[in-house]
Amino acid sequence: TGIYHSLVQLNENQKIPTQPNLDIATFVLSQFPPPYQAETKVALINSTTNHQVTYAQLRGSINSLAAGLYHGLGVRKGNVIFILSPNSLLYPTICLAVLSIGAVITTANPLNTAAEIIKQVNDSGANLAISSPEEMHKLYPTGVPTLVTSRCKEDSNPHLSVEELIENCEPLTIPTTNITQSDTAAILYSSGTTGTSKGVVLTHSNFVSLMTLLKWSVDVSKSQDDVFLCFVPMFHIYGLAFFGLGLFCSGTTTILMERFDFIGMLEAIQNHKVSNIPAVPSVILGLVKYNNLGGYDLSSLRRVGSGAAPLSKEVADGFRKKFPWVNLRQGYGLTESCGAATFFVSEDEAKARPASCARLLPNFSAKVVDFETGLALPPYREGELWLKSPTVMKEYLGNEEATNATFYSKGWLKTGDLCYFDDEGYLYIVDRIKELIKHNGYQVAPAELEAILTGHPHILDAAVIPIEDEESGQIPVAYVVRAGNAEELTEDQVIKFVANQVAPYKKIRRVSFISAIPRSAAGKILRRQLVLHSKGLIISK
Ligand code: AMP
Repeated sequence: TGIYHSLVQLNENQKIPTQPNLDIATFVLSQFPPPYQAETKVALINSTTNHQVTYAQLRGSINSLAAGLYHGLGVRKGNVIFILSPNSLLYPTICLAVLSIGAVITTANPLNTAAEIIKQVNDSGANLAISSPEEMHKLYPTGVPTLVTSRCKEDSNPHLSVEELIENCEPLTIPTTNITQSDTAAILYSSGTTGTSKGVVLTHSNFVSLMTLLKWSVDVSKSQDDVFLCFVPMFHIYGLAFFGLGLFCSGTTTILMERFDFIGMLEAIQNHKVSNIPAVPSVILGLVKYNNLGGYDLSSLRRVGSGAAPLSKEVADGFRKKFPWVNLRQGYGLTESCGAATFFVSEDEAKARPASCARLLPNFSAKVVDFETGLALPPYREGELWLKSPTVMKEYLGNEEATNATFYSKGWLKTGDLCYFDDEGYLYIVDRIKELIKHNGYQVAPAELEAILTGHPHILDAAVIPIEDEESGQIPVAYVVRAGNAEELTEDQVIKFVANQVAPYKKIRRVSFISAIPRSAAGKILRRQLVLHSKGLIISK
């Protein structure tokens, strides 16, 4: 039939719960260690301050914050809460408290500019924002009421803080809110296969399914007793799925870094005897390249995962050679599938297939579809990856056109990734055919930068494409057509013009001036031509 199914069957007690009224917060809290263990079992530790949160404390603060939000601030089911913060011990509490009321979380990168934040606040229809103190100012222009995560002492105009709400609110019960699994739980932003950032609507059912699969993956790989290190951001599905929600279902302990820095990571591994790191390719490259690793003792490491962007075979080989005691496993997913799709069950299968992104998770099906014929392809043939699973998003918020373009009939999600399966069901991602650029695992949408560029009075037309970069994966570069009388427009001016308006990871890093942007008859930018041009394969006319 041309359909690849997961080769794993879940047994009865591993199955995804389908009770219609089960919300994700209730599900996660029901998986916490039992009360006699929860008092001492540590859920989270701040990597630098060593501040610890036990499972019992985590439950207490989630309930208190939920009560404060509901009774004190009037947050209700369906309200959208905008979260703007780097990783913190409070992040999971905020997410779970909001979700337990039936309100919806939408998260953003704290590096985003005020303009980018206003756009997301408006698009998501946020009713309330929760922000770290450093980012508060970016929310002022939105006019949305804002809670600060924790209050700094010198703040002369103090906002109510999440910390105060937790301290001062009794963990009162909230009237039954009738949350159903089909209700929206989160709106995360992704540009999908084309265009600018869109709100990916993920339901309670999507998250309950994901958490069940994550728990299963921890069970089969026997990682319950691992000490996890978190630096992947919780505003992205990768960090949210693992550390904001998922690992609590397995009762694990996480060392949390508020901000990533390489030496801080080495210190955390040594000091806290970290054994498991869900990481990204740029960090793995760093571990391979860093010469003497500063004498840090990394012998506690057992497993390192790589996701969010491609891991090259050279880097994977280099890592395995340098850290033979560590098991390196690649995984693949996207925001639209709640971050998940594949998983390596055993160390040996990962070792034997260093370039593969593993096999489909339970309950996932896939097709590899030929772009031209639309036919589903057999093993070893390359085509676009389509996915179907209970974790696949409901829709793009308020964007029927993009939703329809992304789903093929009967719920197949088009990923925009070029791939093939081998005859044992292992997935290999070959290339990204969608417009999306990934810089250090972060999304950069060319359409967004192109809109900014063409807003420059001296730019007639522009296109943005990725160029491969060893350290960050890809960098965004711009092809620019100068307006008739703008001969003097320089690369530096263009770079600065964009840099002033976007988060640092979205900056244009290089500019080529060109006489015309290649476009199809319908006006679509022919990006492939520009990519070939950038590789010197086509000479500019
Ligand atoms: P995001 O929605 O930000 O998680 O981005 C998802 C996209 O990241 C996927 O569609 C892929 O293009 C890329 N990606 C994620 N994991 C991998 C991987 N292991 N190998 C190659 N590309 C990946």
